[in-house]
Amino acid sequence: MWLKEIALKIQSRFLNPFGPSGAPQPAEAEDEILSPEQASLAHSYLEGETQLAVGPKYLVLELTNHCNLSCVMCPRQRMTRKTGSMDPALFRKIIEEAAPSVEMIYLHFMGEPLLHEKFQEFIHFASGRGMTVAMATNSTLLTAERADALLRSRLDALLVSFDGGSPAVFGRIRRGADFSSAQRQLARLLEKIELRAPDFNLVIQFIRMPPNKEDLAPFLTLWKAFPRARVKVKDLHDFGNQLDELKRLKHGDEVLSIPGDRICYEPWRGFIVGWDGRVFPCCNDYDGKMVLGDLRQESLKSLWNGESMRQFRAAHRNGRRRDFSLCRNCFPPSVSEPGAWQMFSPFSPSAFEMQSYFNRGLLPEEMDSRKGAYFLAEDSELFVQDRVGKIRLHLEPADSNSRLQVPDFFLYGRPLAHTGIRNQEILLKVPAEFRGRLLLLNIRPRAAGGKNTRIRLRSIRNW
Ligand code: SF4
Repeated sequence: MWLKEIALKIQSRFLNPFGPSGAPQPAEAEDEILSPEQASLAHSYLEGETQLAVGPKYLVLELTNHCNLSCVMCPRQRMTRKTGSMDPALFRKIIEEAAPSVEMIYLHFMGEPLLHEKFQEFIHFASGRGMTVAMATNSTLLTAERADALLRSRLDALLVSFDGGSPAVFGRIRRGADFSSAQRQLARLLEKIELRAPDFNLVIQFIRMPPNKEDLAPFLTLWKAFPRARVKVKDLHDFGNQLDELKRLKHGDEVLSIPGDRICYEPWRGFIVGWDGRVFPCCNDYDGKMVLGDLRQESLKSLWNGESMRQFRAAHRNGRRRDFSLCRNCFPPSVSEPGAWQMFSPFSPSAFEMQSYFNRGLLPEEMDSRKGAYFLAEDSELFVQDRVGKIRLHLEPADSNSRLQVPDFFLYGRPLAHTGIRNQEILLKVPAEFRGRLLLLNIRPRAAGGKNTRIRLRSIRNW
């Protein structure tokens, strides 16, 4: 019952944040829409609790803050903190302490992670502790040797930044990189995936900004030929508007009106660990100005509910976010944003980066999470964070007068028969070799009366 109440509260706050008039209705409440841990975190955030009963769900780890490029949209060049690389013993300590609660780690912050010679070992270690492991790279260091190491590493998702479709634009943005060489290397990795590792999740990212907006079409054409390429288009990140150049690049001359009443959910979700073990609140803190602790000196558990974290949460809860220079000019992610669903999403609970990769077959205008559902077109692909090898999907016909035709499912192109239907949910069992991984699931609605029927996806979770 407790879970049901939380689910109702979250759904009504997240899915209908603008009140009843004209807004979509909340989805039906269900007991198990969130796991007990997710519900506990959601409850603490909504109630403004500063002492949390469960640990963080998501961590960002900076393997190194060295980089071989100086990209136009990256604040790294303004960084004044020391450069260095994470010590393997520190990495293992953090992972061991994080494993009981953390569902996903993202191995990238200010530098290029492939410059860390132990990246393969790190991925293997974290994956072995049951976490979903994602990493980003700038696309210039994907030598044949590193590509092979990545394919052997049990990485769940690799995000490759590639922000142009022509040598001129790419070179202007990714300063220091060579378009042809980066393109060749990435194409080789995609061919290796096609031949040897079809279940390797690779996403090529295009950060949309004024200097490259004309290059989006050639970028998409460039990668269309590769069946294993997934593409993500993302808007420029402003790093909390701390830097004038970035602010101008993103917002032009617009006078920003920063909402003062939003409560940011970052302090309830996880944190960033710099290469030296110091902990920062969120990815806006590129220079490590707001240190909440140090994992060389303290445990993750004590830090999570330590005084700094509790004070930081209390300040946000009490409307004093602007006391912190880091947060002062930031549009914080909060429950009043459509993206808030990302924090407690039943699709992939903490894989917030993954959420925006649901970009094939979903109808973009209907991806707004406030609607409490996603609409699946002809052939939709979803990343699903699998915890236990069993997935259940709550699907409905988009048109409420029709009956649901159970769609066809595929896992990396292989048919996946459903094992039953229970309480309107379709049950899938994941083959042993895929269990516990981030999975790419295809859902293909069946044609009825000569035309494809659209399906509404209410939720995906484990059973
Ligand atoms: S308000 Fe902005 S800068 Fe502050 S913790 Fe939240 S996301 Fe980070």
